[in-house]
Amino acid sequence: MISASAPGKLNLFFSVGRTRDDGYHDVYSIYQAIGIRDFVKVAVAEADSLQITGSLSNEQLDAVPKDQTNICFLAARAFFEHNELDSTPLAIEIEKHIPVAAGLAGGSADAAATLIALQELFQTESDLYAIAAELGADVPFSLLGGTAIGSGSGTELEPIDSAEVEFLIAYPNQGISTKESFALLDGLRAEKEEIQLRLPGSDFYEDLRLGEKPPQLGQNDLAVPALELMPSLQELIELGGNVSGSGPSVYFFEPDATLISALQESEFSWVLTSGNQPGARLEV
Ligand code: ATP
Repeated sequence: MISASAPGKLNLFFSVGRTRDDGYHDVYSIYQAIGIRDFVKVAVAEADSLQITGSLSNEQLDAVPKDQTNICFLAARAFFEHNELDSTPLAIEIEKHIPVAAGLAGGSADAAATLIALQELFQTESDLYAIAAELGADVPFSLLGGTAIGSGSGTELEPIDSAEVEFLIAYPNQGISTKESFALLDGLRAEKEEIQLRLPGSDFYEDLRLGEKPPQLGQNDLAVPALELMPSLQELIELGGNVSGSGPSVYFFEPDATLISALQESEFSWVLTSGNQPGARLEV
């Protein structure tokens, strides 16, 4: 049995452009990998099986598909096809710590960890980034980790320097569908003739490198749809939080004790974690 892990991510900046012919949107994302990781174990078996455990609530764990639609099986199928290998039944165990449908790329992390594990299990040398890009916009970044600019649909990555700072991530028990969030954004923009991708100023990168909070931190075109789909997030925004990706996770840069006491009184779960963490890797 081969074991691998991969990190969740935050979008420190997220601009959404036009819809492309492949159905994805053009984006300009500044991704940062966080210290919350999912673990995936993979072994050759007589028949496919999937076991899901982890530190999340039962409601969250129940939201993870247990059938062939689980992204780990989709990753395995893509891996076998790409390597022209016969499809082999697999026993997969996912240990989930990344909140589900939370804008933290938990599914993408599981796909990336599965790919790393399969590469080791079958001793192949395939281009995992190419397979990852077929699986989803955030999967290549889950492989890479650290901090990176994501363009195209998010799969074209340019690593950038960043200091390791602490984040607090708050999230409700319920998720937001990424598809629904993009559809709502498209609806809100339907009247607009031209949709321009916004880019952050060059001081954004310098602040990240120095571990200082960039003034444009958290600019995110999906924040408006997230608030529309989950109005209770307003409480977190008023406390100074930023929506990650399609939400509903909201993150705070270098949280202080006042924020933590406010969150202790709230309905939200929260976790402290570090940014700029490694991408998918084998575990012993
Ligand atoms: P992203 O930010 O990449 O758009 P997300 O972090 O908001 O995604 P995920 O946790 O990846 O959301 O879950 C999105 C959906 O993917 C879930 O609602 C679930 O139905 C499906 N899914 C498939 N496989 C998994 C998996 N292994 N873990 C979590 N969700 C999965």
